[in-house]
Amino acid sequence: MSSWAISNPTFIKKEGTVRITAILWESDKEYELWYEVPDSIERYLFSDCLDAFLVAVLPIVSMKGCNLELKGCVSEKLYHSLLDNVIPLLSNNTDIYHPIKLVANKLFAPDCCHGHVGTGLSCGVDSFYTILSLSQKHDETPLDVLTFFNVGSHRSTSGFGDEESRRLFQQRLDMNMKCAEELGLPLLVVDSNIGEYLCRHQVPFALVHAFCSLSAVLACGSYFNRYYYASGQTKYDPSRLNKATGFVESKLCPWLSTEYVDLASYGGDKTRLQKLQDIVDYPLVQKHLNVCWRELKNCGECPKCIRTLMELYLLGKVDKYGSVFDLHEFYEHFDEYKESIYKWADKDEYSREIVEEFEKRSSYRESTPSQEICWGKKLWKEIFKKS
Ligand SMILES: [Zn+2]
Repeated sequence: MSSWAISNPTFIKKEGTVRITAILWESDKEYELWYEVPDSIERYLFSDCLDAFLVAVLPIVSMKGCNLELKGCVSEKLYHSLLDNVIPLLSNNTDIYHPIKLVANKLFAPDCCHGHVGTGLSCGVDSFYTILSLSQKHDETPLDVLTFFNVGSHRSTSGFGDEESRRLFQQRLDMNMKCAEELGLPLLVVDSNIGEYLCRHQVPFALVHAFCSLSAVLACGSYFNRYYYASGQTKYDPSRLNKATGFVESKLCPWLSTEYVDLASYGGDKTRLQKLQDIVDYPLVQKHLNVCWRELKNCGECPKCIRTLMELYLLGKVDKYGSVFDLHEFYEHFDEYKESIYKWADKDEYSREIVEEFEKRSSYRESTPSQEICWGKKLWKEIFKKS
């Protein structure tokens, strides 16, 4: 079995940021991996800690079936949890992952518990649900920081190259900063080239999504004491780990926690439609909802845009979302979009939920096209005639 290794990390301060860099030696190649965090959180960083790098590369190392040597130090809690829980979870449930050994030069168990409480801001449904729902929970330490990471999501669904994905990250960041301001919370940005590295190995982002995002939290050292990861899935199903990490998020989050930060999956008890119902009336959501897989603004045509439009329609609220979706196009193509949702429902549980809701309704109201659609189409035609 071949062995890979990660060097001790180095820190470089530059223009208001700290770049944490480590070299990953593969059998015959080497890569410089880095995370960049604001220098305002420098005092929370651990000088020779490799936790973030370890978590980010663990899936690819397990896919390749290599052992991994860590030349810096690793959280004792994380190290044992990876060996006892995470590596068996990966390798016992699918054939794309293999058992591996980890050799850490030094384990450490920092005693710090006074950090911040955070979650990610993406302006999508899961993210808004997590933020708005947590802001109403008065029995827990309140959320005080939002995050925005560049760890692969800005390239994945569009198949973007390095430059395009970096541009999309920057454009989305500008958009999300405005939303964070309206929410009254600071936005902590972590940039990284981990997405670029994984792209070299052609790993689908869905297979590493949770690992990459949570690695960025670990890169912040003890800045966070608790971090909520907005869950995209409701079911724990390790047999589908070869499709997405989402199916094991509820266990993966606590298993990737360390002595200095508790990672928790949030929102897995509700379906996408239920979450949307909870947030659909917030003016802030109506102004900022952004779900598109392809572009900066919602294209209205990709599967995620179509699904979200259909969900909003089913909740009777789609007309409130005219500033983030082209509703004229939606009503024009409604029948076609509905047909697509029915087609996707075999393989996609979000589409299945929408189909089930349509079926429920048609069982007590037999009319096609529905009155709302006739009304909606007429209204939008009138508006466009005037403009
Ligand atoms: Zn789209």
